Amino acid sequence: MALNAISANRIFDGTRYHHDAALVWEGQKIKGIVSLSELPQNIEHQHFDDSIIAPGFIDLQVNGGGDIMFNNDISSDGVNVICQAHRKHGTAYLLPTLISSTPEDITKALMAIDKAISNNIPGVLGIHLEGPWLNHDKKGAHNSELFYTPTPEQLSEFPWLSKGKTLVTAAIENLSIESLEWLKENGVIVSCGHSNAKLEQLPQEKTKLTDGFTHLYNAMSPFEGREPGIVGTALLTDHAWCSIITDGIHVHPQSFLLANRIKPQGKLFIVTDAMATLGSTTNQFVLDGEIIRVVDNKLVNSRGNLAGAHIGMDESVANVIKWGIDEQQALKMASTYPAQAMNCNDLGLLQPGYRATATILNSKYRSQAVLVDGNIF
Ligand SMILES: [Zn+2]
Repeated sequence: MALNAISANRIFDGTRYHHDAALVWEGQKIKGIVSLSELPQNIEHQHFDDSIIAPGFIDLQVNGGGDIMFNNDISSDGVNVICQAHRKHGTAYLLPTLISSTPEDITKALMAIDKAISNNIPGVLGIHLEGPWLNHDKKGAHNSELFYTPTPEQLSEFPWLSKGKTLVTAAIENLSIESLEWLKENGVIVSCGHSNAKLEQLPQEKTKLTDGFTHLYNAMSPFEGREPGIVGTALLTDHAWCSIITDGIHVHPQSFLLANRIKPQGKLFIVTDAMATLGSTTNQFVLDGEIIRVVDNKLVNSRGNLAGAHIGMDESVANVIKWGIDEQQALKMASTYPAQAMNCNDLGLLQPGYRATATILNSKYRSQAVLVDGNIF
């Protein structure tokens, strides 16, 4: 198999920098990083000037892109368009995210993702089911008429993925220990979100079955002196990660920095929560019969509630660097840490044997190109 390479002034491999270096891969796997002077003459390579090559960005919460909402076009073709739109913003891998839906649509979504992965559609890591097992009082832009509390038997009826990762966001106060255990035993990664729980509703038996917390601060009971709420629990549960939206609209930069100070390293990472408007030509779409519009860079429904974000991963990374996070941490929050959260041991670092997946950014952190399993886009 032929060797391929890309090079740049700087490569960040997820642990350290290499200067004037090339990332070399064979087929779909990384061979290594070599200095430009050591790169064999016969390897054709593309050089990116004034750029940095980083581990490929992984976005675990993507509702849509390129004019497509996954909820409205539950198909592997739709997912392909969403992945293409997000590659323009540096995302190599993502979890198409289904907002609360009927059991029939959940079934359809699981089958569409299985097909997308079998057909090698580039960039599909698995699926994120956000609901419908949520709390009515923290419904956000979800249709709460679809909410219910599933039994293990109901859960077992879904055609869960045979390949790829499955992330479920649920209000854990509403799930029984048996249902949580069923999900864990079946390889599902469980994140608490759209939750209104008080501390007393979160016994240790439940938090220990919780892998993470979805979009920290948004759609969760707040932290107060007398009641730590889900925000306090999310910040203080060391084993669990928190995803966070860094558009500067969903979460104040100071709140982001507070979370960064409290969470153990590796347990806070960026998601976009992007919708159909990202990488598209229109500035509105329909969700559950309701028009969602971009107004002043915010996505809002007719009542003015936030309904997802209008931002890409590259801009999200640029934001946290602007807020004071060092570049290495910011890049890890977009790749290494979400890879760890999904138990992916071949993504999130540029190391020999890992998937040949990288994001190339210019000096302003705008995406220049994305490498996905050995193919440059
Ligand atoms: Zn949400």
